[in-house]
Amino acid sequence: MSIKEKHKPSIPHEPYLKPPLHNNFEISEGYIYSQNERKIHGQYFHKAVDYSTSWGQPVYASASGYAVASYHRYTIQNSDKTLKLFKNKPLGNGLGLFVQIYHPEKICGVKNGRITQYGHLSKIANEMKLKTTKTEKVDIVKRIIEKNNRLRNNKKSRKEIEKIIEFHKKLMKKYPWINYKYGYNFSENIEEKESYLYTLKECETLFKQKNKYVTWINQGDLIGYTGTSGLIWGELKYCEEKVKNIKPFKTWDEVHLHFEEAVRDEKTFFKKEQRDPYGIYKSVKHYENVESLKDTLFF
Ligand SMILES: [Zn+2]
Repeated sequence: MSIKEKHKPSIPHEPYLKPPLHNNFEISEGYIYSQNERKIHGQYFHKAVDYSTSWGQPVYASASGYAVASYHRYTIQNSDKTLKLFKNKPLGNGLGLFVQIYHPEKICGVKNGRITQYGHLSKIANEMKLKTTKTEKVDIVKRIIEKNNRLRNNKKSRKEIEKIIEFHKKLMKKYPWINYKYGYNFSENIEEKESYLYTLKECETLFKQKNKYVTWINQGDLIGYTGTSGLIWGELKYCEEKVKNIKPFKTWDEVHLHFEEAVRDEKTFFKKEQRDPYGIYKSVKHYENVESLKDTLFF
């Protein structure tokens, strides 16, 4: 069974999107990560497309809806919970500074609506107000020990674990950002909860109440500018407390826009039923001639 047969959500394929970038881009990752990128962070599914481009390119809303802006970043860990390193430096991943737009059924043609996400921005458009909740401290050492204790086979000896912990303590001192995580506050309290976890109903209500974090955006409106936020490698090059505008910096990935189309589970809040806007559901080499495709979510 192909990835497409297995993972393509069975929902009406009604085109409602316009490309989020107008010029100067190339698809650099497809629904499944390329071998090269898999080697860096170890993930197989991307469930999105990446458009590589230059820094500061304007990003436009691919469809109308309620927009929120937030920040999301975590440290990449191996399956044994040790930190994954690339050329001896720790890696951050996540959407970084991003915009999420909720598209009601009348816009996207799908019952209960859909969301689109625009990640790794360097700046969000002035119309939107950025909302970030408290950071979460991650106890890396505790995670490593607990994971090892749970193992039945290949359990590391006390001596081996002590060596790993010593190494990680040095890393934590050199790169303090690795001890923190931004995003995914599952609080029931709407004021505390991450804005991108609001349900469509909550968005509608908050918008009516003139909440400053929920903005109605029309298709084609400017929502931000491209960058590399969230993609940290080694030193953190910007202050996460002040992520409204991020200056250019080099990282483990190229400058790109992460573009994703999905829905959020109203109970678990996790994203699900991600659709490949091009309907390909493969790795990047299959996205060469997307302009000629007919059956896409773009019109
Ligand atoms: Zn991506």
